[in-house]
Amino acid sequence: MKTEFTEDQLRDPGIARSNEILRACVHCGFCTATCPTYQVLGDELDSPRGRIYLIKEMLETGRDPDPKTVKHIDRCLSCLACMTTCPSGVHYMHLVDHAREYIEARYRRPPFERLLRWTLAHILPYPTRFRLALLGAKAARPLAFLMPDARLRAMLEMAPKRIPPVSRNDDPQSFAPRGARRMRVALMTGCAQRALNTDINDATIRLLTRLGCEVVVARGAGCCGALTHHMGRTGESHAAAAKNIRAWGAEMAGDGLDAVVINTSGCGTTVKDYGHMFRGDPLAGEAAQVAAMAMDVTELLTRLDLPEGPPRGLRVAYHAACSLQHGQRSPPRPRRS
Ligand code: SF4
Ligand code: SF4
Repeated sequence: MKTEFTEDQLRDPGIARSNEILRACVHCGFCTATCPTYQVLGDELDSPRGRIYLIKEMLETGRDPDPKTVKHIDRCLSCLACMTTCPSGVHYMHLVDHAREYIEARYRRPPFERLLRWTLAHILPYPTRFRLALLGAKAARPLAFLMPDARLRAMLEMAPKRIPPVSRNDDPQSFAPRGARRMRVALMTGCAQRALNTDINDATIRLLTRLGCEVVVARGAGCCGALTHHMGRTGESHAAAAKNIRAWGAEMAGDGLDAVVINTSGCGTTVKDYGHMFRGDPLAGEAAQVAAMAMDVTELLTRLDLPEGPPRGLRVAYHAACSLQHGQRSPPRPRRS
C-alpha cells in the first residue's frame, strides 16, 4: 500500500512503525475471510482491510479521529485472526495498538463512555478493587433489568454467582520443586484472574512444582498492562508493564530465571510484546529480555515433557484461545492430534 507520510511525520517512531506495516499490505482482502466482525457485520469498514484504510487516512492526515473511525476501530476484537491469515505478514496488532493510542489521546468520547472506560481501567487490573466490584455486582444482579444502559446490564448479568476466597498462593513467595530442581520460573499471577478464578494459579503452581520447577511469585509483579494497552491508555499500561519488568528483572539478576510463565494467553501476548512496547525506552533491554523469556504454561509443559496419564475416558472441549493461536502463534500445543 502506498503511503504519503511526510519526513517530519516519519520522525515519530510510532508513525514510522505504522508506515512499515501499512506498506506491507497489498489490499488482497484474504484477511476478511477470517475476521469475525466482518463475517457478522458484513461491512468492509469492520474488516481488517477496511480498518487499515481508516487508520492510514487518520494517521496520514494527522487529523483528530472522527466518530466513524473510532466506531470501527472500537469494534475490532483484537483476535488477530487477520495476522495469521495475511500472506504479506502485516503486523495488524502493532497498527491497531497505535491507532487506539492515537484515538485515546485525541478523541473526546461521550461522558458516559468516558466514565465506563475510566471505571474499567481503574477496577479490573486491581484484584482487591475488582473483588469488591464483583461483590457489589453480585448483590445488584437481581436489579440488572433496571439498568438504563445495555452494557451495564450485561456486566451485572455476567457477575459470577460465587466469588472465590483470596488465594495466599498469589502473594510474593517461592514454591519449592518436588524432587530435584529442573527449572526456576516466575509465574505471572495477573490481576482479574486473582479475583475471578484463583484455582488457575493454584493448579499451575501444583503442576509445575510436581514437574520439578521452583515457582516464584515475584514481589511487585501484577497486571501485564493489556487491558489499558488495548484501550490506548499507554501511560497506565506502560506503568503496569514496567513494574513487571523490574520485578522479574530483579529475579533474573538474583537467583536467575529460566522462564516467565503465563497462564492467561491474552496477557502472554502482551508480555511477549514488551520488547516492542518499550523500544527506545531506558527499560528496552530488560523489556526485551522479559519478552524473550515469556512463555505460555502449555509451552513450558511441552518443554517439561508432561507425562501422559492413564486414559480416563473423558470427553472434553478445548477452547483454542485466539490470543494463543494468533497472538502468540503457539504451535499445535496444547493439542497433540
Ligand atoms: S490479507 Fe494482509 S495484505 Fe491482504 S488486505 Fe489483509 S492485511 Fe492487507
Ligand atoms: S483483530 Fe480480529 S476482529 Fe480485529 S480486524 Fe483482525 S480479525 Fe478482525
